[in-house]
Amino acid sequence: VASVGYGAYTMYDQRHPPQEQGEIDPSKKTIVVLGSGWGSTSFLKAIDTEQYNVIVVSPRNYFLFTPLLPSCTVGTIDVRSLVEPIRFITRHKSRQVKVVEAECTDVDPERKVITITDNSDVKGQSSTSELAYDYLVVGVGAMNQTFGIKGVEQYGCFLKEVWDAQKIRTKLMDCIETAAFPGQSPEEIDRLLHMVVVGGGPTGIEYAAELHDFLVDDLTSWYPELAGKIKITLVEALPNVLPAFSKQLIDYTESTFKEQNISIHTKTMVKEVCEKEIVVQRPDGTSDKIPYGLLVWATGNTTRPLVRNLMARFPETQTIRRGLAVDDWLCMEGAKDIFALGDASATKYAPTAQVAAQQGKYLARIFGQLASQETLEAEVAAASTEEEKNKKFRKLQKAKDIKPFHYSHQGSLCYIGSDKAIADLPFGPGNLASGGVATYAFWRSAYISNLFSTRNRTLVITDWLKKTILGRDISR
Ligand code: FAD
Ligand code: NAD
Repeated sequence: VASVGYGAYTMYDQRHPPQEQGEIDPSKKTIVVLGSGWGSTSFLKAIDTEQYNVIVVSPRNYFLFTPLLPSCTVGTIDVRSLVEPIRFITRHKSRQVKVVEAECTDVDPERKVITITDNSDVKGQSSTSELAYDYLVVGVGAMNQTFGIKGVEQYGCFLKEVWDAQKIRTKLMDCIETAAFPGQSPEEIDRLLHMVVVGGGPTGIEYAAELHDFLVDDLTSWYPELAGKIKITLVEALPNVLPAFSKQLIDYTESTFKEQNISIHTKTMVKEVCEKEIVVQRPDGTSDKIPYGLLVWATGNTTRPLVRNLMARFPETQTIRRGLAVDDWLCMEGAKDIFALGDASATKYAPTAQVAAQQGKYLARIFGQLASQETLEAEVAAASTEEEKNKKFRKLQKAKDIKPFHYSHQGSLCYIGSDKAIADLPFGPGNLASGGVATYAFWRSAYISNLFSTRNRTLVITDWLKKTILGRDISR
């Protein structure tokens, strides 16, 4: 089975009952980890809980396998197949990790305390509390970029979280059912059946591809009178889609989209979003209006307020707007007790799951080395003979030699519809670029092998089989 590496995940059996959550041992330092996404989860998997107290704080009590999220928007895969409770990840640790479902709303680096808020209180009230840390690992990811464009938040659908995929699916079926309602004008039917995707990065491309498959495989037979009127348009500000892929694969994607009747409007920038239409600026500078029924907004990431506030506390060292500036060891510039990883950090790497997962694993190793250093320093001081002291000292020097983070790129994959995918792989003398049905088989096996657990793998394979045999579910 092929693997495009996010870091291999161990197989667990979910039927085993969870253990008690661990208590804080005052003799050990406490690491507070923010977030339960790619970076934090990979860190939690690798951190040695014998050396530290570990507390994880996240408003989401689960990990989400984002690479397959676009498949959930049309029911190819069920969202439940892509999530895994964070307690499921931490329960096999020798000393238990404490899990707090809450949002971190403030970091006070001077007091080394964070403020946490639980907005999911069953009584509808929110509760606030504080947690102290010795080390803080910031893995809160990023949020959807809107560039402050009017109407995006109000009328657009993002594609980042489980609820986003559910919202898109509901909205899509709502548009189709409303178009089928008797007495609609032809213009209104055309508007309702126009699905517009903004952003030609991998998220926008994969969503458009999934929507196309749903249309061809299922909607055509369920709604024969409407299917021919359903249109998909992708709007991209740059001269081409997928700027991070090679020219050959960009051309292949664009020609595949053409065959699939997905219109691509490049060099076209969305300027405003209204309830039923978007205002775009065309390549010649003129303005145009495009009516839509469903609008999916996929124009990339921006920093979360928590990260922005933390940066504002270090105005001299935190000057990169993209996220927390870190050194080569992922330590935040200006604060030696705070580390950042994944989409929350600003590094030379793209904000991807691959980078976040490798950073999480790396950081756990660094913490291991830091703990050994402290033990060895104590041992050097306590050594009774010169020979023993020298021996321990050499070990200590070795423990102090902490290598900087090195990212190993395993390749990029993107699904483009009609059982075709593209792959840019860093193999051979140059990059290996491939696209087509065989690449799709590779795409599938890579994602299956990178899925979190046996449970997730079983569920995703079952979903794929179900879709092939029974078709997708069209209920809202
Ligand atoms: P995330 O995974 O976003 O996790 C952030 C965590 O922080 C979440 O648990 C969140 O709930 C939590 N959080 C947020 N705010 C707070 C707070 N205030 N306090 C505490 N916790 C907080 N990358 C690839 O490499 N390959 C792919 O195929 C791929 N496909 C993608 C498909 C889609 C649809 C999307 C949206 C992204 C995809 N990515 C892919 C990108 C990848 O998902 C991100 O780069 C990755 O999730 C970043 O990991 P992270 O840990 O930094 O953040
Ligand atoms: P992105 O930043 O990669 O792409 C956003 C696109 O939107 C850009 O091409 C930009 O030019 C365009 N855009 C911005 N403003 C616009 C406007 N007003 N009008 C029209 N177009 C506009 O964002 P993404 O696709 O969400 O990806 C985010 C990150 O997640 C990337 O690092 C990506 O590699 C990763 N990701 C990877 C995969 C995969 O590997 N299959 C899938 C999804 C996401």
